[in-house]
Amino acid sequence: MFKKILVANRGEIALRIQRACRELGVQAVMVYSEADRDAKYVKLAEEAVCIGPASSALSYLNMPAIISAAEVTDAEAIHPGYGFLSENADFAERVERSGFQFIGPTPESIRIMGDKVSAKQAMIKAGVPCVPGSEGELPDDPVQIKRIARSVGYPVIIKAAGGGGGRGMRVVHTEAALVNAVTMTKAEAGAAFGNPAVYMEKFLQNPRHIEIQILADKYKNAVYLGERDCSMQRRHQKVIEEAPAPGIPRKLIERVGERCVAACKRIGYRGAGTFEFLYEDGEFYFIEMNTRVQVEHPVTEFTTGIDIVKTQIMVAAGEKLPFTQRQIQIRGHAIECRLNAEDAYKCTPSPGRITMWHPPGGPGVRVDSHVYTNYFVPPNYDSMIGKIIVHGDTREQALARMRTALGETVVEGINTNLPLHRELMVDAKFMEGGTNIHYLEGWLANHAR
Ligand code: ADP
Repeated sequence: MFKKILVANRGEIALRIQRACRELGVQAVMVYSEADRDAKYVKLAEEAVCIGPASSALSYLNMPAIISAAEVTDAEAIHPGYGFLSENADFAERVERSGFQFIGPTPESIRIMGDKVSAKQAMIKAGVPCVPGSEGELPDDPVQIKRIARSVGYPVIIKAAGGGGGRGMRVVHTEAALVNAVTMTKAEAGAAFGNPAVYMEKFLQNPRHIEIQILADKYKNAVYLGERDCSMQRRHQKVIEEAPAPGIPRKLIERVGERCVAACKRIGYRGAGTFEFLYEDGEFYFIEMNTRVQVEHPVTEFTTGIDIVKTQIMVAAGEKLPFTQRQIQIRGHAIECRLNAEDAYKCTPSPGRITMWHPPGGPGVRVDSHVYTNYFVPPNYDSMIGKIIVHGDTREQALARMRTALGETVVEGINTNLPLHRELMVDAKFMEGGTNIHYLEGWLANHAR
């Protein structure tokens, strides 16, 4: 096991990784920007290094500053968390070339999965079900493009191979609009991602977002930890996640999970990862893989009892996965609400000083947050200030626990989306389970105030 690792992130995930390190007896070096000097994990740290000013480009995305921080503190490995540099293959490569272990997959795996065309091709080879579409990148010839669209069937979606964060996509309903849409998406993709390649998929009308968590070691052992339903989204941002996904047959999840495991073995994947799928009419369609820990990992930690972050660190240190697929049991139901510093309904950011922070507690309640009373939420980063996660024997019990937990939570001084979560937990459709990815946007439009 490592003696010391550097945590190259901020916010709740920095604290989450620091906690995992403490349990493993590993020293954690924290990094922070000038805007994050007062974060809880910095105050709790034995060692912390300022890596630059508030702007992420100059701090959390500043590769030389992060690698120097690891050098001066004699860290052996770097945990990238999520966002920032976590899925940057060049960063992973620089980390390893500088003599540190990157806590994540190899740069090659990140590269394959970071390009959606090569990721999809790797998945097809491994037998993972994908959205029907073009075989790889779209050609330039308009006649061929039209022929592909006709065989896929309208509506189609044109997607950038290098896209991410919900950008670089365009839905096309008619042949008349097709060629122009391809040209425009290509131009945008070239400008935004430095890669003009685009591909085509059938546009699914009312899918759910279901994802499969996997863990793998470097000895080609891999397991899946069941699924998460992350369909409650706004502008492609997840707001509520849960596990298991209501109403999806176990047998089907098992089949897809096994294919994901096969894909991991095939590409020599190591560490934690998530296969994201759209699910419609009883079928799974792969859309992309995230090669890092995800915000919503705690719901899976609750239902499996497995510590995903500790396991990431253990397998990066060269240990074998400490469990087999047969030992993984899904127990009960877990729900996560992301708490954002924003107006609950308009969703405009609301940074500033928290004058009162009272998190909930009780059986089956977990709060992952780096904030506290008198903490100043900086305006420079993502608006998430924490996550409330609950676990119950059944979905009904989990919902009841979440309602109780949200009822106890007090955040004063800034606006948060707590009122939204409180309403959604008593919303008839959400309580029924199985809402699709458009449900929350529709709900917000109907509840405009
Ligand atoms: P990103 O990497 O930008 O998040 P994804 O490929 O994961 O891109 O797609 C983001 C979102 O776009 C999906 O969650 C879904 O809402 C929508 N989307 C992507 N592909 C399709 C498709 N083929 N049909 C319908 N919606 C899609």
